[in-house]
Amino acid sequence: MTIRLPVRIDSAAKAKAYFLGGKATFTLYSLKTKKYLTYRIVVCKSDARFHFVWAHTHAGYRYVGAIKESTKFKPISYFVPTKKSLTQNHFLFKVFKWVWGHVYNDSLPFNLLIYHDGTCCRCGRLLTDPKSIKRGIGPECIKYFEFKKGGTI
Ligand SMILES: [Zn+2]
Repeated sequence: MTIRLPVRIDSAAKAKAYFLGGKATFTLYSLKTKKYLTYRIVVCKSDARFHFVWAHTHAGYRYVGAIKESTKFKPISYFVPTKKSLTQNHFLFKVFKWVWGHVYNDSLPFNLLIYHDGTCCRCGRLLTDPKSIKRGIGPECIKYFEFKKGGTI
């Protein structure tokens, strides 16, 4: 039997790296409302500048919107709803938009805790050694990450 323990992500930079790993599953915990929300962010297969955000609900994962990431010439990033997604008034959309706004600008909301679920943020496989679990990325995937992001995770 495998037990997945939640692992705390303690900085905005790490949260951003984890979110954009390619296949990330994480849980947000609000110290204010005492509620947990789980999201999944998957990179677009045909264009890696886009990441699709899903939120876990009682009816399974629902599509929330897309992160449009920076390009070399346009260093911007924003989170937008798309046609199939939950409406912009839905709290799952609002919460993620708020969190992404913070994380992208290198801050963590003080009343929010972020946990990953013990899986690799790039391939989604279960992490087994303590070092990888702490980082949120496996030994093979981190090679790709260091190459791509200059070892910032
Ligand atoms: Zn991996």
